[in-house]
Amino acid sequence: MQTLGLYIQVPFCQTKCTYCNFHTGVVSAKRFAPYIDAVCHEIFHHEELFSAAGVFWPTPFGEQSLRQAALGAHRADSVYIGGGTPSLLETSLLTALLESVSQAFTCSRDEVTLEADPETVVPEKAQQWLNAGINRISFGTQSFVDDELKAAGRRHRRADIYRAVPILREAGIHNISFDLIAGLPKQTLDSWRQSLSEAVGFSPEHISIYLMEIDEGSRLGLEVLRSGPRYSARDLPTEEAMAEFYDLAQVELQAAGYQQYEISNWAKPGFASKHNLKYWRREPYLGFGAGAHSFCGQQRWSNLTDAAAYVSAIQSRCPAIDHIEALTPQLALEEEIFLGLRQLSGIDVGRIGRQYGVDLNDKFGRLAAYGMIERVGDLVRLAPAKLSVSNEVLVELLR
Ligand code: SF4
Repeated sequence: MQTLGLYIQVPFCQTKCTYCNFHTGVVSAKRFAPYIDAVCHEIFHHEELFSAAGVFWPTPFGEQSLRQAALGAHRADSVYIGGGTPSLLETSLLTALLESVSQAFTCSRDEVTLEADPETVVPEKAQQWLNAGINRISFGTQSFVDDELKAAGRRHRRADIYRAVPILREAGIHNISFDLIAGLPKQTLDSWRQSLSEAVGFSPEHISIYLMEIDEGSRLGLEVLRSGPRYSARDLPTEEAMAEFYDLAQVELQAAGYQQYEISNWAKPGFASKHNLKYWRREPYLGFGAGAHSFCGQQRWSNLTDAAAYVSAIQSRCPAIDHIEALTPQLALEEEIFLGLRQLSGIDVGRIGRQYGVDLNDKFGRLAAYGMIERVGDLVRLAPAKLSVSNEVLVELLR
């Protein structure tokens, strides 16, 4: 039986970070419960709602509607509650979400992740999270330098991280992932080294490092476009500096015993994220909530991004799906390469060639000659030294 990942989106935050281009908002706490009610309804009635919107679930016997294929009979082994800042919610709401999951799916809950920001962690909540079945925290650390956190509009400070991690550990959370951002305004090689060193000092099981993306959908991005000074837009590190930060992270994390398994992700042995691996391996996952994305092998679909419109659709007992894309063989092939090469384990070009009836030897031969990729037999992966320029390699491959 195929296993599923389940993603639940909570699009609420306490403040809006300057660099954020996500569909998240700062809203009254009164809106949390109706939103969670709607998500619980969508989880519980996913078969009817997805089927009514035109989603089809492939089976060994050909395409069938979700209802016919009894998607609920699929086993889910990972749940990821992301956002936004889902740790803002009262635990009773998180519990309601996880109970809906248990009612709607055969769910082994091998990995149940909650995204949590440091300032929201208190002992009572941490204990309740564990009791509700949450066994992994994705912790929004971002930086250990207060000037950088402040410039980025983050709510927490370094002291909050030092206060929160022992609370999570004492509550019995044995799987914590730290997020760090390389390329924050005011960040220097020295301050980045400090953040890496302090993060490693906590010995989290997993570390994700994201390169700062300047997007015009964020306040910082708009300020950069108009060459303004607000949000410390003129104190952003250069692209070259960011590549240096990334290279330093590779060295320091490896020295500290972390294994890099994806362009942005490092883990201690046995702690690679089961849920996130499904994205890169093109395994099926269902997303619930405003803006959540789903993938079933032959279609990708996404929900309305506006939280109020999402709640209104679900309250009217209508699907909240905004967009469905049927994957052509060409698109699926591009995904295999693009997503597969994000993983340090690489891709099997022999298998992909046979499955899609294409010969990839020419493309990969050229990149191997430039030292951009490494090839051992049919296995191809990005050269570790080229990971910081991975986008250029991927664009060249998909040309
Ligand atoms: S906490 Fe995350 S989702 Fe919320 S505003 Fe900041 S970056 Fe965006």
